[in-house]
Amino acid sequence: MPLKIKKIFATEILDSRGNPTLQVEIELNNGVKDIASVPSGASTGRFEAFELRDNDQKRYAGLGVQKAVASVNNILNKELAGLEVTEQKKIDDLMIKLDGTRNKSKFGANAILGVSLACAHVAAKANAQALYKYLRQLYDYKLTTWTLPTPVVNVINGGKHGSTNINIQEFWLVPHKAPSFAEKLRQASEIFHKLGEVLDSVGLDTDLGNEGGYSPHVQSHVQVFDLLHQAIESAGYKPGVDILMGIDAGASVFYDEVKNVYKLPLDKAEFSATELTEYYLRLMQTYDLRFLEDPFDQEDWSAWKHFTNDDFVKNNKVKIIGDDLFVTNTERFQKGIALNAANTILIKPNQIGTLTETLVAITMAKKNNYQVIISHRSGETNDTTIADLAVAVNADYIKTGSTARGERIAKYNRLLNIEQGLK
Ligand code: PGA
Ligand code: ZN
Repeated sequence: MPLKIKKIFATEILDSRGNPTLQVEIELNNGVKDIASVPSGASTGRFEAFELRDNDQKRYAGLGVQKAVASVNNILNKELAGLEVTEQKKIDDLMIKLDGTRNKSKFGANAILGVSLACAHVAAKANAQALYKYLRQLYDYKLTTWTLPTPVVNVINGGKHGSTNINIQEFWLVPHKAPSFAEKLRQASEIFHKLGEVLDSVGLDTDLGNEGGYSPHVQSHVQVFDLLHQAIESAGYKPGVDILMGIDAGASVFYDEVKNVYKLPLDKAEFSATELTEYYLRLMQTYDLRFLEDPFDQEDWSAWKHFTNDDFVKNNKVKIIGDDLFVTNTERFQKGIALNAANTILIKPNQIGTLTETLVAITMAKKNNYQVIISHRSGETNDTTIADLAVAVNADYIKTGSTARGERIAKYNRLLNIEQGLK
């Protein structure tokens, strides 16, 4: 039976930081309706698709999204009416064409992504299919099994994600060894609670940052690793065996373009790219640090390339992860592949703006032996699309915050439910 779009309706809602974002509802001719909502970053890469905000200082300090809402309700609603909702690529291509800009700045990538995701949600619902199964059908890379992603769990929130002196944006626990997603999540949660006790015992703050991790004032970045080691051990796990560690340096934020140095005020350091590489290598040798996202600035290609080809990195299968570097954009990703600039890609649908382009970036990763991490943003809603997406494409990892805060837990709980359903 054809499933035609009858009405598309966007509303301005709030995200987990209390900032406006879009929710999009699509109704089909047969009366079936479903919604999707759009996340938002704080440490946004310079090459991401354009997030349209109103800049009206009288509303939400300029962060309102009424213009993007109007793009959906006044333009996309009319242009897409009557289209077959399962034709995801056709719909996404048409939105890109109607927008007509390179970075989706006319309608806003937030408007376009909301519609794109809502199409998949309502199509899956109308077909009485779980979203991850529906998304698997849209994905043209052949897969025959289902695997759940390993969570990379951000338990310390620094940089722009908390009121803290920590410059490195994220510190992750990676419970890579446990036999199921549920067990991995349990280990992460137990360590997260132990970490709270450890912080408390040395008089450090246990309030939570934007992604649900702790966000204390500390003495050095090395101290954070020591605290994490302590928490892992006191929860009864072995660092480096059961649990690996990761960071998202978010280095574009602390790179000084004028002086060409990386500034880590917490360590009273100003590093050249070579010195920063040595700093990371020391941490990797001491602390089982095996995942490094955005270790360098988004345009420092030569530093990325040098690091990815380092012997220690290669021998220890360290994941060098491009987030701001690639921005889920196949042009930038292609350049990175040609240069051998990384070995893992972070995938964020709102960096590129449509589901179809997101799936193409993931296919490119698989074809080029890149590992895939599907990721949330620091500003989130309870939308759980990324959990289904991660399962649909057999992503290696998912990054969706610590084991606290409702908008993070929503994704973890969705994965628990999917895992149960697959048994
Ligand atoms: P953002 O942070 O959503 O604020 O960009 C997440 C990340 O950098 O991975
Ligand atoms: Zn990042």
